[in-house]
Amino acid sequence: MALRVRAILLPAPAIAGLQAAREERSRFFEHEVEKARNRDEKRRREREKIDDELFDECPVCKKDFVEPVMTGCGHQFCLECISSDFDQCPVCGVEIRGDFTPVEDGAHQEDVRETV
Ligand SMILES: [Zn+2]
Ligand SMILES: [Zn+2]
Repeated sequence: MALRVRAILLPAPAIAGLQAAREERSRFFEHEVEKARNRDEKRRREREKIDDELFDECPVCKKDFVEPVMTGCGHQFCLECISSDFDQCPVCGVEIRGDFTPVEDGAHQEDVRETV
């Protein structure tokens, strides 16, 4: 309330200056908020993309994993898909000749082991 009384007593040009400064500032903040939001959105999308590649489906046949194996680079494929044609990981291009580890129970095996 006290602030408001003082503002009324200011000459008109000073009030206009204050308003301009306030608008300037709120535009600046809007811009910053927008930038931060875009950044988060981008990061979220990247994370989702990685999750898709890792857990949802075989990147080769685009179906659920059949006898899933994990390559040395940490990507999962059906045993049959990866052992047939690929010398390199189809996702990241790392050489994988015969370097598979069977994945017994999907991608969450490690989580389970950690909680025990
Ligand atoms: Zn497959
Ligand atoms: Zn890979």
